[in-house]
Amino acid sequence: MASGGANYRNGTQRNSLKGTTTATDRQLSMNSNPSKAALKNKSLSLVGASSGLRKSSPGSLGGGTAKDDAGVPGRVRVAVRLRPRSAEESVADADFADCVELQPEFKRLKLRKNNWDTDTYEFDEVLTEFASQKRVYEVVAKPVVESVLDGYNGTVMAYGQTGTGKTYTLGRLGEEDTADRGIIVRAMEDILADVSLESDSVSVSYLQLYMESLQDLLDPTNDNISIVEDPKSGDVSLPGATLVEIRDQQSFLELLQLGEAHRYAANTRLNTESSRSHALLMVHVKRSVKGRELAHSSQNGNSTNIAKSLRPTLVRKGKLVVVDLAGSERIDKSGSEGHTLEEAKSINLSLSALGKCINALAENSAHVPVRDSKLTRLLRDSFGGTARTSLVITIGPSPRHRGETTSTIMFGQRAMKVENMLKLKEEFDYKSLARKLDIQLDKLIMEHERKQKAFEEEIERITTDTQNQISEAERNYADAMEKERLKYQKDYMESIKKLEEKWMMNQHKLGERKDQTASTAQEVAELKKLLSKETSLRKAAEEEVNNLKSQLAQLKMSEASANSESLKLRKMLEDEAYRKEKLEGEISMLQTQLLQLSFEADETRRRLDRGGPGKVPGDLDSLISQVRPQVNDSVNEEKASIANLFEQVGLQKILSLLEAEDADVRIHAVKVVANLAAEESNQQKIVEAGGLTSLLLLLGSSEDEMIHRVAAETNQELIMSEGGIRLLSITAANAEDPQTLRMVAGAIANLCGNDKLQNKLRGEGGIKALLGMVKCGHPDVLAQVARGIANFAKCESRASAQGSKTGRSLLIEDGALPWIVQNANNDASPIRRHIELAVCHLAQHEVNARDMITGGALWELVRISQDCSREDIRTLAHRTLTSSPTFLAELRRLRIDY
Ligand code: ADP
Ligand code: MG
Repeated sequence: MASGGANYRNGTQRNSLKGTTTATDRQLSMNSNPSKAALKNKSLSLVGASSGLRKSSPGSLGGGTAKDDAGVPGRVRVAVRLRPRSAEESVADADFADCVELQPEFKRLKLRKNNWDTDTYEFDEVLTEFASQKRVYEVVAKPVVESVLDGYNGTVMAYGQTGTGKTYTLGRLGEEDTADRGIIVRAMEDILADVSLESDSVSVSYLQLYMESLQDLLDPTNDNISIVEDPKSGDVSLPGATLVEIRDQQSFLELLQLGEAHRYAANTRLNTESSRSHALLMVHVKRSVKGRELAHSSQNGNSTNIAKSLRPTLVRKGKLVVVDLAGSERIDKSGSEGHTLEEAKSINLSLSALGKCINALAENSAHVPVRDSKLTRLLRDSFGGTARTSLVITIGPSPRHRGETTSTIMFGQRAMKVENMLKLKEEFDYKSLARKLDIQLDKLIMEHERKQKAFEEEIERITTDTQNQISEAERNYADAMEKERLKYQKDYMESIKKLEEKWMMNQHKLGERKDQTASTAQEVAELKKLLSKETSLRKAAEEEVNNLKSQLAQLKMSEASANSESLKLRKMLEDEAYRKEKLEGEISMLQTQLLQLSFEADETRRRLDRGGPGKVPGDLDSLISQVRPQVNDSVNEEKASIANLFEQVGLQKILSLLEAEDADVRIHAVKVVANLAAEESNQQKIVEAGGLTSLLLLLGSSEDEMIHRVAAETNQELIMSEGGIRLLSITAANAEDPQTLRMVAGAIANLCGNDKLQNKLRGEGGIKALLGMVKCGHPDVLAQVARGIANFAKCESRASAQGSKTGRSLLIEDGALPWIVQNANNDASPIRRHIELAVCHLAQHEVNARDMITGGALWELVRISQDCSREDIRTLAHRTLTSSPTFLAELRRLRIDY
């Protein structure tokens, strides 16, 4: 706390920095950007409502009373900086204490009045001789720079006696040592780091104010720049000052150096020092507000591109003014430069005017003499205006300058009482919009003119083309017209000429015609008659034609049906022809046989008529004729002849012929043997003579059908006893010719009827061979098969009745039943009759009944008993059926009344 409360006269009673405020609070309020948050909130509420123009009335620099509700209160902040003793001072003031004592922790400065008395002053910041340039920037300037970037105006100003470090604090470039960089350089660094070079702009003016004349340090020729004030907004601008756009730090440094060089040149020219002039650096920061724009467009989601391009961008324009004031010392004190009093007055006019204004503002005076100097006019926004202002007062330690130091401190104290109303400098950028639209308009006009020109050229071209075409068409038309005209004229002349000729001729003929007219009328009548006759004839002809046409159609139709009919007939005819051919073949065969037989008969008769004993026939034919049974001869005669044969030829001789080389001889020999064998009494003799063996040998090896046939007809028992059935079976299996098959089947059928051979026949596969032949399908073969089956059944039945056979029929055993059932009602009567008989025979034995029922033979039996054409068979079937308990039981079971 202040040691001397009574001396504590720094006006802090009027602001927030009361004695009760803690150091921490105060430090915070200086270091940070105290109103930044508040400003931001405020700025939102100001959007739209504020046109970005200052509302404080003109002359508000002195109008501390003219508070604007829309602004944010922002007192001028003041820091005091003590320069370290210079080398010279260290020597000169070696025996003296500093005139000031700093208490930075309390933000107090004690000013020694004499050895025993001090005055204590409180500042926003107290910077000792050890304070670094960085720290000075951060506490004095940085909050202001941030405000400028946010769209407020800001001022950083240094006030103090010459040589106390104003320029050191503000303008050091720090080229040798970056730690030395002053506020200006650091401020620009922060600004460039924060802005976007695409959408924002930073531009700079650099000026010097000397003896109320404003000079452009960036353009030395421009040495009387006028200040323009907007009476409505109170905004101050320097339209004549050079404005240089800054894009990087280096170019800015170069610019500063250039300005400094110009300042030095100007001061040399004017015979002054920089300490006598004020230097002003103005930094314009213009930023477009993108976030706001986006929010706006999303509210009107359907806004078109054109609408967007027509909407001006919202921009924030902050202006930072850095003022390096002239030395605050009284001129008369240092007035060794030989200035006149006028000059001295003029030099300090601005500074004294500033002091007066600050005083007025500090005391809330009604009148603030802003217009008294150019400096106060330039700084009207910095004191009592809308800017955030930070003042650094510089003092030296030397007690020799206590007076100047005191006045500097008093200036700072008064400045601390000045209240500003910070306002956001936000406005719609109509200018750049207008520029943009101008460019667009220019482009459109250019485009339009280009199109217009092209259009006109096109029109001209089309016009020329069309005219050419028209003139050509006209020419063509005229030519054509002329040609046509000439042609018609010619035609016309020719017609006239022809007519004249005709006329002449007619005139000539007229005389003759007059006579002919009468006869002509008659002729005409005749012709008419002829014509009508002709017409009716034509009609009749037409009718005739139609008639013929329909007839033709009918004919075509009938022809088609006739065609199909004829096809059918042709097929029938072919069938007939085939059958006829077959019959003819059979007939010729029969005829041949007949011829042979009659020949043989004649031969035999002749031989018998002629014949005497002891004569051995020389050739075989005669032999055969001898042994051949005579067709017309009686049985006795035949038997006699065969007996003769044995006697005449000898059996041995006949049998040896069976092994002859010549096939024909063999065949005839077989025939002879067969004939001989027909006589039962001869059979034993043939067998004894080994004839059967030879015969069977021949039968086995020969491929000749005739031999097979003959062998098949040869005595069965003999053949059977010598394994003939096996041969027959083989023959049956191999032969394909129906004739042979019929013979073989016949032979087997004969054997089937032989009681003695039943078992042997069956044992050697005779029944199976018989059944195998049905596949041939020839009715004659089938008839023989049926006969064989019937024979077998009959013998079997007989044997069963005699008791010599037990068990079921061998026919059933060998699988004949299905075929029997299948053919029991065959269309061919020989087949049917045999099978019907076979069925009856089988049915007579109960042992077969079950198989017959399951095989379906019962129904055949029933049918036979009812439908058979032969009465004896019908009766047999009926009797058989009624005498079988098994059949009757089955019929009852099936509820069939029989
Ligand atoms: P002014 O601009 O107020 O006339 P200057 O900035 O020219 O004063 O400073 C005068 C001299 O004092 C210069 O040589 C400068 O380097 C030196 N000086 C000023 N302030 C400091 C400081 N804080 N530390 C060291 N030297 C300083
Ligand atoms: Mg200086």
